[in-house]
Amino acid sequence: MHVVHNNASLTVGGANNGNISDAQIQSQIQVLNEDYRRQAGTRGYNTSPIGADAGIEFYLATADPNGQATNGITRHYYAAKAAFDVNTNDDVLLSQIAYWPSDQYLNIWVTTLKDDYLGYTQFPTAADTLKGLPTSANVLTDGSIIDHRSFGRQTGTVTRSLYLLGRTVTHEIGHWLGLIHPWGDGGGCNEDYVADTPLMADGSNAQQSCKQTYSNCNGKGQVRDLMENYMNYWPDACMNMFTAGQVARMRAVLKLSPRRAKVLTTESTPLGETETLQVKVYPNPATADPTVDVQLKGNQSFSVDLYDTAGRQLRTTSFTNTPSTRVTLSVSGLPTGVYIVRVKTGSEIASKRLLVQ
Ligand SMILES: [Zn+2]
Repeated sequence: MHVVHNNASLTVGGANNGNISDAQIQSQIQVLNEDYRRQAGTRGYNTSPIGADAGIEFYLATADPNGQATNGITRHYYAAKAAFDVNTNDDVLLSQIAYWPSDQYLNIWVTTLKDDYLGYTQFPTAADTLKGLPTSANVLTDGSIIDHRSFGRQTGTVTRSLYLLGRTVTHEIGHWLGLIHPWGDGGGCNEDYVADTPLMADGSNAQQSCKQTYSNCNGKGQVRDLMENYMNYWPDACMNMFTAGQVARMRAVLKLSPRRAKVLTTESTPLGETETLQVKVYPNPATADPTVDVQLKGNQSFSVDLYDTAGRQLRTTSFTNTPSTRVTLSVSGLPTGVYIVRVKTGSEIASKRLLVQ
């Protein structure tokens, strides 16, 4: 996740701040896993006979391109632009500001977009094997660009009322995995190369509510449009489905599109689950911002706090319903000395001494 913002104060999180919080990013990862795994008990669940679990999961990178530990989030202050324009090659500019090799990582640039764009994604290449995909595409701009006002789930600066449940990114990554809008783009009643999505007249006029519409394509009579489908333009709250055909196409892209296939084989495993709370802080002593590995059972809400030896709280970051996570702790501006890193869940506390040099 590359956060590209225009906030000169470099503060993280809070209202109307493009330099969004780690918690907002974590909430987006959760939404992706609920939606792509059709997780029971979440908004991503459905019981539709044509709905399917994509069997694809997402996590923040734990190693950067140099093999160093990372929380998978990079932050970049860019003074020259308040908003990026995806219609005038700003994807190239964003790639120059931040980029990790797109055959090892899914790059997501979170920024501010011009002209009410929610997101923009480059399709995967699939020469001669899958219909409707390009034979070549720029390796440097491969990924998704998302406006921070429609990124994550109702935390931080998500402000677009119809798009505050994180489904913009679910939709955009569908494109990254080769899915085409069900109306086939280019005017409607066109092919998305997926057999179980009904032909759709035109979905490019975004709906303002969960209002059912119907299409009559090629004189075949009224057919219900799949407003539950993530690849349509209904509001976030209406959606809960990838179809089995869309899942088959995404999984084919993961096999057949060369860069996507390579991402799957890149060694950067997620932090594992543990029975009890485990916390590692390193390097220690720290000469720059140290890394905190928080490992726990399942998903939990927890805080990562920094105290001085007098017991004053200097930093705090909260996570909601989050799995094992790697956190970067900011120690800039702190005097040399001993500090305490404390991680607190609903039922456990772990404290570690940290020497800042
Ligand atoms: Zn789209």
